[in-house]
Amino acid sequence: MIAEQMNSAMPAIAPCHAISACRAIIAIDGPAGAGKSTIARHLARSFNLLNLESGAMYRAFALKALASGIGFEDVAALQALSLETGIHLEPTATGNRVILDGADVTTQLRELAVTDGASRVSVHPQIRAWMVDLQQKLGAQGGVVMEGRDIGTVVFPHADVKIFLDAAPEVRGLRRYEQLDPAVAVEIQPEEVVDELRARDERDRNRADSPLKPAADAVLLDSTHMTLDEVVARAEAIVVEKLNL
Ligand code: C5P
Repeated sequence: MIAEQMNSAMPAIAPCHAISACRAIIAIDGPAGAGKSTIARHLARSFNLLNLESGAMYRAFALKALASGIGFEDVAALQALSLETGIHLEPTATGNRVILDGADVTTQLRELAVTDGASRVSVHPQIRAWMVDLQQKLGAQGGVVMEGRDIGTVVFPHADVKIFLDAAPEVRGLRRYEQLDPAVAVEIQPEEVVDELRARDERDRNRADSPLKPAADAVLLDSTHMTLDEVVARAEAIVVEKLNL
């Protein structure tokens, strides 16, 4: 159902240049601010794949919990809320449009309260089970790059390519700070962004269910001392090698 709705909203995809890439699943995992979205977008463009941001789904659900006045620790209420929530991703050339219960909420998902909420609702196994099921349906046909925290370990443990993208926390924090809207950036210090990333990483790495960690067969890519072009080139080389293109 969701996959069908997604397909109807998807941009036309040019034919794959190799059969193996048409149906491939590429998993990109890593901590916040490592550059997963940027790299996933580049790979999707280079190999004609759909780019699906799993974090946006947790963010959309956190937004709904906030709007409903439900506490992030109230598992029973969150679970009941999930039963009446529809989340869809619509890949575009610049990222995913996120549709929550029929409304486009994309521009609301980067707010600090939503970001913090996403990392709190995502610790609950009941919520994760629901999300993983949705994500598996979205990627079931293959031909996708999905990024998140548990894609290579839980959502698609048999993904054709797994990349674990990392960078030093200070570097990730500064990159995030530089991406902020200038009107927001003047209000906060770079250190605050680094602290927020560290707090989220800590929660993601230490939760009992599906903690953030590289899959045993993931290729580790540390971008601390690399330029964007270098990371893109390396990620493309990994895909070419793994898919025998
Ligand atoms: O990737 P993004 O920063 O949008 O993710 C927001 C939050 O959602 C993360 O901090 C993490 O707690 C959670 N998340 C997750 N599993 C995923 C994707 C995101 O737990 N696959």
